[in-house]
Amino acid sequence: MGSGKVTDWQGKHVTVAGLGVSGVPAAKVLHGLGAKVTVVNDGDDARAREQAEDLRELGVTVRLGDGATLPEGTELIVTAPGWKPDKPLFTAAAAAGVPVWGDVELAWRLRGPDAAPWLCVTGTNGKTTTTQMLASILKAAGLRTAAVGNIGVSLLDAVLGEERYDVLAVELSSYQLHWAPSLRAHSAAVLNLAPDHLDWHGSMEAYAKDKGRVYEGNRVACVYNLADPATEDLVREADVEEGCRAVGFTLGAPGPSQLGVVDGILVDRAFVENRQKNAQELAEVSDVDPPAPHNIANALAAAALARAFGVPAKAVRDGLRAFTPDAHRIAHVADLDGVAYVDDSKATNTHAAEASLAAYESIVWIAGGLAKGATFDELVTKSAKRLRGVVLLGADRALIGEALARHAPEVPVVDLDRTDTGAMLAAVQEARRLAAEGDTVLLAPACASMDMFVNYNQRGDAFAQAVRELGA
Ligand code: ADP
Repeated sequence: MGSGKVTDWQGKHVTVAGLGVSGVPAAKVLHGLGAKVTVVNDGDDARAREQAEDLRELGVTVRLGDGATLPEGTELIVTAPGWKPDKPLFTAAAAAGVPVWGDVELAWRLRGPDAAPWLCVTGTNGKTTTTQMLASILKAAGLRTAAVGNIGVSLLDAVLGEERYDVLAVELSSYQLHWAPSLRAHSAAVLNLAPDHLDWHGSMEAYAKDKGRVYEGNRVACVYNLADPATEDLVREADVEEGCRAVGFTLGAPGPSQLGVVDGILVDRAFVENRQKNAQELAEVSDVDPPAPHNIANALAAAALARAFGVPAKAVRDGLRAFTPDAHRIAHVADLDGVAYVDDSKATNTHAAEASLAAYESIVWIAGGLAKGATFDELVTKSAKRLRGVVLLGADRALIGEALARHAPEVPVVDLDRTDTGAMLAAVQEARRLAAEGDTVLLAPACASMDMFVNYNQRGDAFAQAVRELGA
């Protein structure tokens, strides 16, 4: 069952675990290849029933409300990436010797013989931004490409669709990597590693190991972050193709085989002739939007992958200039009375919020939400000197409040004691009161949003709306 050849799939019993964004297309594709597909799904709500009806009309078997039992005769499971590895379905599969693939593995196996190579990006934070920067650079080089994967564009569509690509910029989550045992990228980057999703992976070691899979079998370059030695460790542990290089990126001056920054210029000392002596200018720091330190790191990682693919220096600059970040990622909303209001609602964990806080000198910080088991001592200790004041809201705000009391008792804190959606307007009003000219009011919650909002987009929109009301 190694490829997309129809003969390989005729009559195979494949179980698709989970309806939804990856399950439904996977079931349809496999059914189309002649496999005998059974979809199993935990939930049995209206949406699931509707999707099930659709699939049943095609001749696919669907079992709603039972995602635990392994259907009789299953030869392969194709799972939604979010399904936890300790689920009974997978225990049963392991006992029966049935392989489990995720959506990425399926796309990898079904890609055609002259499929475009994959340049892969993973890491705890910065994946989407870096993948989009990479796609922008590749486009500037005249290559046919798309940003795909964990970014909202299904890999299956990219691999099986009509469109012909020269190369794909692929964002991968740790879940997707967990279920993608045979993926072999042209080149890949792990941007950073901080504790996240540990309830899913079971431990930091298991999480790191899954991230590290992105380097397995790389052909040209394994790109790592010099400021995060754990990423370099993963390169060292990976089994790569002969001749594949380890290429580091740094916000400092680069050594040989590294990309870095010298006097406000992004420079390449990896993909140049005679890298002991030479360096190639790629772009200026001001070409990167926003030019915050963590985002320069993202740009360097994207540049490294593009250069590994042979893209000329000029395309790196043009691609970075053409790139605009997605909403709610350090988005400048407005200036009021000499105070900047910045929406980084996407900072949903402490590692992201730390990067965001490091980008400004004097900050009124709006934080709080669902902590997902995180602790805030390190974040507060590292950021304390930049804080003019703090406004807290959301379910787990007390955890941040306690860390502030321990490590930054001199910083004024307003605890809104609210979890209703309207609290954002009050938060912005309080922040305005605390801010002085030249400050930045920064929404970087360090928490998930679901206690008060549908998602981080809605939270960021509420912030921007509140700022506009204040300015009106
Ligand atoms: P991901 O796709 O990994 O969630 P995004 O590019 O969407 O990453 O960025 C999410 C948030 O993470 C940003 O809003 C910013 O706060 C933070 N961030 C972005 N890049 C980095 C980085 N290199 N290091 C740390 N935090 C980052």
